[in-house]
Amino acid sequence: MRDLFQEQLEALCARSLDRHLREINSSQGPEIEISGVGRDRRARRFINFSSNDYLGLANDPKLREAAIAAINEFGVGAGASRLITGTQSPHVRLEHALAKWKGTEAALSFSSGYAAALGTIPALVKKNDVILLDKLCHASLIDGAKLSGAILRIFPHNNLRKLESHLEWARREHPGKRILVATESVFSMDGDRVPLRELVELKKRFDALLMLDEAHAVGVIGPNGRGLAAAESVSEDVDIQMGTLSKALGASGGYICGSRNLIEWLINRARSFIYSTAPSPAIAAAALAAVDFLSSSEGEERRLLLWKKIRLIQEVMPTSGLNKKDAPAGAIFPWIVGDEQAALDLASALQNKGFLVPAIRYPTVAKGSARLRITVTAAHQEDQIRSLCEAIKRASAALRRLEFRP
Ligand SMILES: *Cc1c(COP(=O)(O)O)cnc(C)c1O
Repeated sequence: MRDLFQEQLEALCARSLDRHLREINSSQGPEIEISGVGRDRRARRFINFSSNDYLGLANDPKLREAAIAAINEFGVGAGASRLITGTQSPHVRLEHALAKWKGTEAALSFSSGYAAALGTIPALVKKNDVILLDKLCHASLIDGAKLSGAILRIFPHNNLRKLESHLEWARREHPGKRILVATESVFSMDGDRVPLRELVELKKRFDALLMLDEAHAVGVIGPNGRGLAAAESVSEDVDIQMGTLSKALGASGGYICGSRNLIEWLINRARSFIYSTAPSPAIAAAALAAVDFLSSSEGEERRLLLWKKIRLIQEVMPTSGLNKKDAPAGAIFPWIVGDEQAALDLASALQNKGFLVPAIRYPTVAKGSARLRITVTAAHQEDQIRSLCEAIKRASAALRRLEFRP
């Protein structure tokens, strides 16, 4: 039989859009070890500038110990979905802690941030309702929007004038229907922020619901890392506060924070929550340890340490390829290369120098806007940051010389 996928894979390769897994055979951290790199297929260590473990919690003893203690008390598997018998004490404690930390009435945890979006959006809007998404929204929001069957309109990135005209259109053409605006606080591939206060003004004026994905803002922005809504004092006006436990919180899972009624509704209607086995109690316990840490003064210190590293990278990064005019928005620094192959070449030049900064390509970002996505964490050393910047300077100069060779 003809191999159905061979041709498709070759077509991806020809466009420099093929993707492959790397096996990391160490714990997460600023240095990781990868199996089978290079011709000799030996394991090599790299300085890692591509992780979302912004506070260095993924391998933190507090989280490890919480997970181990939960395994000893509750075992490994939750055994059933949350609504049957899968809700164990760590899940309940985690949700109480999340609501308290975020200052909302209630919270609900999901097995991932992706599952949170996929379950929540279709529970909020349906056919004939309207959902408005920023062009650069994460795949989880797009997929949730599509799954909902609501009328989907995209507005250009952070373009609130266009959003306003979409809102006018929606109120005019779909009177009495629900309108949901969904966006991110720090955009995952561009690293910039949403103009949240202006957005809140708009959503109030048009009586729309607002869902804010704080995946890259929690743990990074706002008092005790509560996110952008807290930093801008508009938490009350963000109806659905979404986030993940898998990035700065160092564990795994997603959450929605909001009113008690919202959470009760999701418990009844969010299909990714209802029809999936509860996350392992160990992972809920680890996430709880992370929330407790963030809520503490020690956690706040760690967050401020992250900001020292963010300011350092902004200061020492070479000027071309990076927007240095504005104050940094968060821990993500995109180095936009454009061409897919050029981004791969730059990533591999950096890898040869011992830095891991994978190229991000279509369909994660638009075609022709391939980039290196550099992320910095509180756990990076200053000299690691400085040497990355030097390596980028040299590698991009070398690539430019190659490109311009007559
Ligand atoms: C990573 C991410 C998610 C998904 O969260 P997971 O817990 O990894 O599934 C959702 N939204 C954004 C913006 C993200 O970057």
